[in-house]
Amino acid sequence: MEASTLIKNARILPMTEETWFDEGYILIKGNRILEVGEGEYQGMASFDKVMDASGKVVMPGLINTHGHAAMVLLRGYADDLPLMEWLQTKCWPIEDKMTEEDIYWGTKLAILEMLKSGTTTFTDMYFEMDGVARAVEESGIRAVLSRGMIGFPPKAEQALTQSREFARKWHRAADGRITVLLGPHAPYTCPPDYLKQVVSLSEELDLPIQIHLSETAGEVEQSIKDHGVSPIKLMEQVGLFNRPTLAAHCVHVSDEDIEIMSKYNVHVAHNPDSNLKLGSGVAPLLKMLEKGLTVGLGTDGAASNNNLDMFEEMRHAAMIHKGVNLDPIAVNAYKALEMATTDGAKTLFLEEKLGTLQPGALADLIFLDYNRPYYHPRHNLIAHLVYAGQSGDVTDVMIDGEMIVENRRVLTMDEERIYEEAANTCNRLFA
Ligand SMILES: [Zn+2]
Repeated sequence: MEASTLIKNARILPMTEETWFDEGYILIKGNRILEVGEGEYQGMASFDKVMDASGKVVMPGLINTHGHAAMVLLRGYADDLPLMEWLQTKCWPIEDKMTEEDIYWGTKLAILEMLKSGTTTFTDMYFEMDGVARAVEESGIRAVLSRGMIGFPPKAEQALTQSREFARKWHRAADGRITVLLGPHAPYTCPPDYLKQVVSLSEELDLPIQIHLSETAGEVEQSIKDHGVSPIKLMEQVGLFNRPTLAAHCVHVSDEDIEIMSKYNVHVAHNPDSNLKLGSGVAPLLKMLEKGLTVGLGTDGAASNNNLDMFEEMRHAAMIHKGVNLDPIAVNAYKALEMATTDGAKTLFLEEKLGTLQPGALADLIFLDYNRPYYHPRHNLIAHLVYAGQSGDVTDVMIDGEMIVENRRVLTMDEERIYEEAANTCNRLFA
């Protein structure tokens, strides 16, 4: 028998249309939502568990569409540098020394932070991915994972082999909470012939691809110098876009690039904070949305953000595009919420209903304390969450029908142990 839960007296934001219930209930059976309704539950069913959500908002869990979880270990180590210098002189030498165990503990720290701030699904592109998958499996979070691939010797071939092995071992594992994508890092780290091999592997395994594209102006200039075309056009030429593709960043994309992305239905992970911090620029989000592209929000790694806080990402996505477009109507609060929930799920090639609270949807939901000064008066829940809300308001988290966080305590993780192990790891890596 699957366990059933009734959540009552909740203020509910279902994310199926631009409205909410001031008082409602949610029925959950197993890992799925059975019913969402307004007012009090009038049915006759009995439940294994009844949760009183008085004073709380219940909404879909947030979906982080781009990141490198274990990079939390580099948080605060090298800041205020441009992307290439930061990668080559700071990140890569430390990452070279990381073992699977280091990455396991780094990912645990990242998951702890994500769970406590309301993220229920995250994306990762890194290496030693068995360590990442183990951390996901144990913690109860949902994740879309890629073994990052660099297409230069000596590890180019190994990256392809390990990607295949990783997909066979972990795709749909952890009760289906883990799915796998192929993760060629970027056109500047994966030459065209290598990308063609990735395309073949993607066909063989029937898996989508995620890649960093057009993050900086320098990257686009270099691509035009080396290949005569922009990174987006180059991806069309190598056949990458014939496969379902998630492109991270897309900050420096031309109108022609956006046309190409639209033609192939390329999904985009928009990372406003990381792009700002690395001085990369502001992605032309409005143009991409106008062309009907599917766009989700991401934090990117914590070394370029420096947190994994999707509430900040929502708020900044809504704010920045108003500012740069001199348009207060651009990216309204509801659109920001959609990018962090429903659109995020689509961006990651996950189930249609994930990111909503409706019958049949996976039961990934978060509870927020609505008794905060900045949530008064109660004019508009949607505006409050995006323009005033904070990740620290998250009190409880359910993923796949299981309570993972209760009263701000993560039930599946030993918080003190994670801080200790992360510190030990860093003592060794940075010695
Ligand atoms: Zn990235």
